[in-house]
Amino acid sequence: MKTTYAFNQDGKIVSIREVASGKKCNCYCISCNDKLIAKKGLIKEHHFAHINNDCKYSAQTVIHYLAKQLIEDNNNILFPKLFINSNFSNSGPSIELIDQELVNPTNILLEKRLDNIIPDIIIEIGKEIFFIEIFVTHRIDNIKYDKIKQLGISTIEIDLSSLVKMSDLDDLVKYLFEDSQKSKWIYHSLSDKIYSQIEDLCKIKIVKNGYTSNCPKNNNNPVLTDTCFKCDSRFNLPKKRINIPSIACVYDYKEEIIEVLKNHGLY
Ligand code: SF4
Ligand SMILES: [Zn+2]
Repeated sequence: MKTTYAFNQDGKIVSIREVASGKKCNCYCISCNDKLIAKKGLIKEHHFAHINNDCKYSAQTVIHYLAKQLIEDNNNILFPKLFINSNFSNSGPSIELIDQELVNPTNILLEKRLDNIIPDIIIEIGKEIFFIEIFVTHRIDNIKYDKIKQLGISTIEIDLSSLVKMSDLDDLVKYLFEDSQKSKWIYHSLSDKIYSQIEDLCKIKIVKNGYTSNCPKNNNNPVLTDTCFKCDSRFNLPKKRINIPSIACVYDYKEEIIEVLKNHGLY
């Protein structure tokens, strides 16, 4: 396994940049705990190597492990902004429901089963529960998404897939605690509630990349969903499954939608 992180002799996570070359680094594999050598030559990228190279873990495993450990050790995590994707507002192509926030959990559980799911991290804040999923090689798939939705637990996915080759901890720390550009709400109970209310109101459903034959604005029906995408009566309903949003046309329901948004303090 090639990795740029290891434990030092005090059990602290260190990067290849911080340690002496060769066996003098006094470092151990984060996965198997075997002694490592720091390879800091002039040609190849600096990395740690095992003395006996039979470790079956990968750099991806290490990133995954580090992210969970850092969140647990710091006892905080940056929650990203929550949006609903719609042109139905004066504020641009989406409505912000919740701002990003650095939260301090009351409890953090790593890899614990809850019902029929084992999220990477379960976070408790008071009586509320959240799931955090660290994406290095596997995104949340539709099977897991369906389970999350059934449980109704708000879930963040943090995409750390680009960090496998990094050689210091700065970017990892940044994406967990300072900058939410790699995090997104895969499911949130608040937006789900709003989408459900809007979907219940709207009769017209348009599958993305398809046509609708009953656009109330356009006599030249059918219209392409591309037209809807630019229209101020468009509401995306990403509630069925990941990556399969449907578009609700809210043209005939403006008053009702405003009422829904007002009820949630959004209008
Ligand atoms: S969203 Fe706009 S373009 Fe699409 S059907 Fe409704 S009114 Fe027509
Ligand atoms: Zn190892």
